Amino acid sequence: MFDNLSDKLDKALHVLKGHGQITEINVAETTKEVRRALLDADVNFKIAKEFTNRVKEKALGQNVLTTLQPGQLMVKIVKDELTELMGGESEGINLSGNPSVILMSGLQGSGKTTFSGKLANFLKTKKSKNPLLVACDVYRPAAIDQLHVVGEQINVPVYSDRENNDPVAIAKAGIAKAKADGNNVVIIDTAGRLAVDEKMMNEISDIHKAINPQETLFVVDSMTGQDAVNTAKAFNDVLNFDGVILTKLDGDTRGGAAISIKSVVNKPIKFIGTGEKMEAIDIFYPSRMADRILG
Ligand code: GDP
Repeated sequence: MFDNLSDKLDKALHVLKGHGQITEINVAETTKEVRRALLDADVNFKIAKEFTNRVKEKALGQNVLTTLQPGQLMVKIVKDELTELMGGESEGINLSGNPSVILMSGLQGSGKTTFSGKLANFLKTKKSKNPLLVACDVYRPAAIDQLHVVGEQINVPVYSDRENNDPVAIAKAGIAKAKADGNNVVIIDTAGRLAVDEKMMNEISDIHKAINPQETLFVVDSMTGQDAVNTAKAFNDVLNFDGVILTKLDGDTRGGAAISIKSVVNKPIKFIGTGEKMEAIDIFYPSRMADRILG
């Protein structure tokens, strides 16, 4: 995982370690390598440039040049900066509502339905919650079926209404059902499209306004690289969401999306998806991610 990025950084830092005496020039050379590695990992150009400038400043400010082990200090600086950039400490989910309503947003195929199930399972098994899943995709009957399959797998009830084509009404009815049945968390799975368009944005915005969720999460496929940033920005402009879910980190993906999305929308990445199974969910820890990226 993240082979390309960590290999490149390894190489860059190896170059630095190889120098008995480190000069300002080879700090600059090394940070250039770091920047190239970030760009190769699909990190936005501006973000990669800002990042490496900060690393350079810190390296020179901390007198890397005069330390006995400049390479190690340099690695630490890069790791710390990367960790900070991706969000500092991890943040939880707001479960203060009664019930707590969690709205899922994102493009079709990003992993919303799968993650809705994973989150329900996580909250049920780890936080002793009693969730209800709500299917608000009125365009694809298969999406409703998929949520029912997921619900059965984890033994969590699913509310859907195949006769209704108004997602706002379904979302509201789902919340009312949760109240009636004593479910203290409602996870609302919504319809995505293949690309950002006005209809989808208006619909998710209408649902968001109507139900005023405690938590709005944006789900994004980490394999989509630069596009992930543009999609995140489009959804954030409309929803001002609370957190990001980065899926498919088990695939052949680098860390670029995590870095760029956090920088551009400045919202915490809360969970990661690491597989298709319901258990393949992890809390996002920026420091672990930085370790993974750097190898
Ligand atoms: P939705 O259209 O946003 O609801 O996306 P789905 O939940 O249907 O997911 C789309 C595809 O990605 C499905 O085949 C999922 O099994 C798969 N998927 C979702 N999350 C992950 C993940 O974390 N890792 C992997 N490898 N596949 C995932």
